[in-house]
Amino acid sequence: MIRSETFPCDVLIVGAGIAGSALACALRDRGYSVAQVEMSDRPLDTSRGDHLQCVVLEILEQWGALQAFWDAGAERRHGATYCTDKGEVLLNIDYGMVPIPHPYYLYLHHEMIGDTFQKLAAQNPHYVLFRPARAREFELGPEGIRSLTITLPEVGPVPEGFRNTQRVNIRPRLVVGADGRSSRVREVLGFTFEEHEYDSPIVVNFAKRLPSDEDQRNHVKSFMGPNGSISRIPRAFGNWKVGITIRKSEIHFWKTATDKMRKRAIAAKAAELESLELELAGFYPVKLLNTHRWVAGNAVLVGDACHAMHPARGQGMNVAIRCLAKLVDLLPDVGEMADADIVMRRLKAYESGVKPAIDKVLIANHVRGGEMDALDPAVIAATAERFRRINGDDEMRRRYVMDAAGYGDALGVPERS
Ligand SMILES: Cc1cc2nc3c(=O)[nH]c(=O)nc-3n(C[C@H](O)[C@H](O)[C@H](O)COP(=O)(O)OP(=O)(O)OC[C@H]3O[C@@H](n4cnc5c(N)ncnc54)[C@H](O)[C@@H]3O)c2cc1C
Repeated sequence: MIRSETFPCDVLIVGAGIAGSALACALRDRGYSVAQVEMSDRPLDTSRGDHLQCVVLEILEQWGALQAFWDAGAERRHGATYCTDKGEVLLNIDYGMVPIPHPYYLYLHHEMIGDTFQKLAAQNPHYVLFRPARAREFELGPEGIRSLTITLPEVGPVPEGFRNTQRVNIRPRLVVGADGRSSRVREVLGFTFEEHEYDSPIVVNFAKRLPSDEDQRNHVKSFMGPNGSISRIPRAFGNWKVGITIRKSEIHFWKTATDKMRKRAIAAKAAELESLELELAGFYPVKLLNTHRWVAGNAVLVGDACHAMHPARGQGMNVAIRCLAKLVDLLPDVGEMADADIVMRRLKAYESGVKPAIDKVLIANHVRGGEMDALDPAVIAATAERFRRINGDDEMRRRYVMDAAGYGDALGVPERS
C-alpha cells in the first residue's frame, strides 16, 4: 500500500538552483515553514555564474549570509580590463573608484554558492528539502496553486519525518517557481513569454593559474579583435575560467581539438592567453526569456524561470538575487500568511514594483549580448571604440563602474535597515 502524507506549509519553493536556494536562505529566520522540491540529486553545474556583484554583497550581508561565503573559500575580484587581441588596454575599471560598501565582486564555484545558501537555509527548523523529487503534479484552484504532490525516491535519503512515506501532498500558502529556463511552474500556470535564441553558443574552459598570472586585483580580462572575443575570468582556488563565443559550426573543433590546436585558436583571439592549458568544461546555447507576468494568484516566478539572459554582463544570477531581496521585503509576516488576499496583494506589489526595472535590464543585456553574439569584426571594432571612449571620460567611466557593480539600474540599492 502506498503511504501518503499531507504537508501544509507557508512557502513552497520549486527548484534549488541559485534562485531557489538563495530564497530559502533569506527566509530562514522569518518563522515560515518552507518546503523546497528539487528534482536533481547532483551538484549544480560548476561552469555557470560564479561572480556575485558588489551590490549583491550588501544583500548577503543583510541576510546574515556573507561571512559563510568567505568561510567557504570565496575570493575577491576588484575590477575588469578590456583589451584588444594584441593586449592594448581599451578600458580599465576598478570598483574602488566609486564609494560603495564592498568595492569588489565575490567569486566562488557555482555549486558552492548553491551549497552555501542551502546550508544556511537548513538553519530554519521549519525547512524541509525534498531531493530528488520532481514537481509535476500540481492541483490548481482559484487561489493559484493549491497543492503539489511529489513521489519520494525509493532509495536514498528522505527528510526527517518522511521515512516510510512514498507520496507527499504539499499544501502551500505561497508558491515560488525557481525551476529555471524550462520551468514547469511557468507552464502549468500558463505564463506567456518572449524568447530569443542567440546564434552563437559559449564554450567554457578551465585552466590552472600559473605563478606568472598573479594579479592581486583579480581582474576579469576580456580581449576583442577581428577573430572574436575571449574572456579570462578568475575562478576560485587558483584557477581561471575562459569563456569564448563561438559559431555553432566550431563546436566540433572545440570537442576534438588537440592542445596545440586549441592554443593556436586562443592565440588568434588573444596572444597573451596562448600559454593557458585548457580543460574543456562545456558548451552553452544562449537564450533570452522574458515572461509577460511573474505572478498568478499565490504563485510567483523568480530567476531564469521568468528572466533568463545572455551571460554577456554576468547578470542572470545577480539579478535573480536582487529581485529576491525585494520579494522577501514584501512578503507578509508569518501571522498574515493564512490570509490569501494579503499574499496575493503583496505578490502583485512585487511584480508591479520590480518587473519594469528588470524589463529594462533585459533590454540593455540583450544589446551587449547581441554585440557578443554577432562575431562580426565591424561590431567588435565598434565595441572596442566605445570602450576607448568610456576609458577617456571620467564621468562615463564612473557610470560604467556603478553599472557593473550593480548600482546603475532602476532596481536600486537594497534598503538599509
Ligand atoms: C556559461 C554561463 C555563465 C554564466 N555566468 C554568469 C555570471 O557570471 N553571473 C551571473 O549572474 N549569471 C551567470 N549566468 C547565469 C546564471 O548561471 C543563471 O542565471 C542562474 O544560475 C539561474 O538560476 P536559477 O536558480 O534561476 O535556475 P537554475 O540554475 O536553472 O535552477 C533551477 C533548478 O530547478 C530544478 N528544477 C527544474 N525543474 C524542476 C521540477 N519540475 N521539479 C523540481 N526541480 C526542478 C533544476 O534541477 C535546477 O536545480 C551564467 C550562465 C551560464 C550558462
